[in-house]
Amino acid sequence: MSELTKLTVAAARDALRAGEVSSVELTEACLSAIEGADALGAFVHKTPEIARAQAAAADARIKAGDAPKMCGIPMGIKDLFCTKGVPSQAASRILKGFRPEYESTVSQKLFDAGTVMLGKLNMDEFAMGSSNETSCYGNAVNPWRRGNDEAALTPGGSSGGSASAVAADLCLAATGTDTGGSIRQPAAFTGITGIKPTYGRCSRWGIVAFASSLDQAGPMTKSVRDAAIVLEAMCGHDPKDSTSADLPVPDFEAMLTGDIKGKTIGIPQEYRMNGMPEEIEALWADGTAMLKDAGARIVDISLPHTKYALPAYYVIAPAEASSNLARYDGVRYGHRAKLAQGDGITEMYEKTRAEGFGHEVQRRVMVGTYVLSAGFYDAYYNRARKVRTLIKKDFEDVFAQGVDAILTPATPSAAFGLDEMSDADPVQMYLNDVFTVTVNLAGLPGIAVPAGLDKQGLPLGLQLIGRPWEEGDLLNIAYALEEAAGFVAKPAKWW
Ligand code: GLN
Repeated sequence: MSELTKLTVAAARDALRAGEVSSVELTEACLSAIEGADALGAFVHKTPEIARAQAAAADARIKAGDAPKMCGIPMGIKDLFCTKGVPSQAASRILKGFRPEYESTVSQKLFDAGTVMLGKLNMDEFAMGSSNETSCYGNAVNPWRRGNDEAALTPGGSSGGSASAVAADLCLAATGTDTGGSIRQPAAFTGITGIKPTYGRCSRWGIVAFASSLDQAGPMTKSVRDAAIVLEAMCGHDPKDSTSADLPVPDFEAMLTGDIKGKTIGIPQEYRMNGMPEEIEALWADGTAMLKDAGARIVDISLPHTKYALPAYYVIAPAEASSNLARYDGVRYGHRAKLAQGDGITEMYEKTRAEGFGHEVQRRVMVGTYVLSAGFYDAYYNRARKVRTLIKKDFEDVFAQGVDAILTPATPSAAFGLDEMSDADPVQMYLNDVFTVTVNLAGLPGIAVPAGLDKQGLPLGLQLIGRPWEEGDLLNIAYALEEAAGFVAKPAKWW
């Protein structure tokens, strides 16, 4: 039975359609894998009753000859997505007890396509973090370890539970969200694939907002083909999100030919960081050679404003977060602090927010309100917005020169130890996003593909950045890279 959970979405879909397996069987296999994996801390709310009902309905649908690609596929859903009647806490104490009355557009689309929901997945609180350590549930754990060393490693963040669950074969795929790298960094840390589509490709409706001009949902999967299949089911125009693009959704899977002859791949010099581990440098060179061997033309490019991306992100994202999080006031949602005799509304806000938000979230709210305050708005927030425009223009310029996609490392290191960064300056943690935030600031699609192992046996990923709305082309280049890299390693089971 446990072998079933190792299937890719594509293989499971084919087996379901051929009647070789039922969704009920697949779902039961995942549910028992999840039961045996509490040590990973990936699932924070399990929904076996919903899963079983959806699986039975999917089997009936398949029997009736109506089987969309996702029909009967068991997935995990990040806790940031509002799921009707099911706890949706964004891993925050402040949303304790919140069960939405509505379903997010992305999860609804997945359900309409027949997807089975196994439960909600761990993450950093309000998707703020790179290690899953800011979660109110406690962190998820990476199924990978350094050789025989038992030290627990981070699965990355903020979609750490999604990454851990997919890498450990607890589900066939998971949803993630990415504001500055939260799909791509955890995917790279756990040896799986994760794509952040173009801003506006997936509806943000019903996803707890972090930084609205940067947030995008996307799939986390075991292969590039699966990323194509799941993304297609998740995205599409939604009138309920005014930033959702009214564009047709292509058949992304049909675009996976593996033929990248004549494609131009840019290698940006600014991503060659001082102090970057040699192994990352070597992986990047290997990836470049693989794409060249597959027939692509490799060109050196310059994205001159790259070094300002991280500071700009850490002004814009907290600014938007401070505004988005103003709604958690102890009145409308979740937690309200116990009040003392004589406390008024101000005390209620203060106590509720002090108890309800963790330290990282409080830090972001404070930074955000500071950069938006009257005296500093121009110096910080407006300056950061201008920098953002320049970063976007850097990409537009290289695309105008004929570059089809850009290859970079996904992360500056392999997965690090849980607690290893706990005493570090918060900026150390922010550096995890150095290769990924540019893509959110420019609104572009980016994908992380596992491409090799480091000396300690940990997965390393490469990132491909594509032209806006050309996820199909990007996925095809990623597919060629995946074929060439031939990454098949799996974590040894210890949980
Ligand atoms: N690690 C980044 C942050 O903490 C990105 C998070 C994300 O993409 N949600 O803001």
